[in-house]
Amino acid sequence: MPIDATKPYDDQNIFAKILRGEIPSQRVYEDEWAVAFHDINAQSPIHILVIPRGPYVSWDDFSAKGSDAEIAGFIRAVGKIARDAGLVVPGYRLLANTGRQSGQEVPHFHVHILAGQPLGPMLA
Ligand code: IMP
Repeated sequence: MPIDATKPYDDQNIFAKILRGEIPSQRVYEDEWAVAFHDINAQSPIHILVIPRGPYVSWDDFSAKGSDAEIAGFIRAVGKIARDAGLVVPGYRLLANTGRQSGQEVPHFHVHILAGQPLGPMLA
């Protein structure tokens, strides 16, 4: 069920539980600002989710309320994860669904890193 991106943060959402280590994930990266793990239902050969450690519902929430340090740290982490995975030369796509019409399902801001094959048109 797609979420309302303006609702308050729910600390029982699945990514909050992954952050706290209450449910397992296949982590590929973590630092002060971000945690990354494999998507459980990969849409491409490489499908990594990157989440901030802070409690933000959506991109809208994060970009409005995150501190400059959190935003910079998070964006640098996304870039590093892609570089370290060797994705710069073949290329990759970043995606951040925000709210109902985007289909956002999990109410903790996340960026999808999609790669590993030609990705086709944006809205396919
Ligand atoms: P959204 O539609 O942008 O909110 O994307 C949520 C993503 O989270 C989907 O691609 C799901 O496959 C993924 N997902 C949901 N639960 C888990 C989990 O427990 N581990 C890893 N990925 C998950």
